[in-house]
Amino acid sequence: MDQTLTIIKPDSMEAKNAGNILAHLEGEGFQIQALKRMRLSQAQAQSFYEVHRERPFYDSLVAYMTSGPIIAVALAREDAVAHLRKVMGATDPANAEAGTIRALYGTSIERNAIHGSDSPENAHKESLFFFSQAELIAAG
Ligand code: UDP
Ligand code: MG
Repeated sequence: MDQTLTIIKPDSMEAKNAGNILAHLEGEGFQIQALKRMRLSQAQAQSFYEVHRERPFYDSLVAYMTSGPIIAVALAREDAVAHLRKVMGATDPANAEAGTIRALYGTSIERNAIHGSDSPENAHKESLFFFSQAELIAAG
């Protein structure tokens, strides 16, 4: 099965939507392979979003992602990356299709409820950012 990586972002944690989001993902056939609650340091958030360093929203994004705890989740499913992007919805919740996680729980283009890896290569890289190889080996 393919793997992908989601992050339940600080806005979702603050609004107590983490349980609903995990249930939504399980309902879409994703298996939770590894899960970790943590608060990102500034250096960790900067590193995770390194690809966006030159974008105008980078500093605000890092401040938001370090503003409270997150839950990182490694997910397994057939066609995991593409399916998560589909059930996650567009970056801006205002443009996200009805019923997607961002349409349901996101409140702005920044505070958009969850992260989802954008390619299998990045899914692998991002999963190893949070979890060890051993933690990512499918159990059961
Ligand atoms: N973001 C933002 N303003 C923008 C675009 C993105 O604050 O104009 C934030 C938002 O939280 C988004 C993250 O930066 O989820 C990463 O942006 P990306 O373009 O990779 O969007 P995603 O892959 O999350 O849909
Ligand atoms: Mg992205």
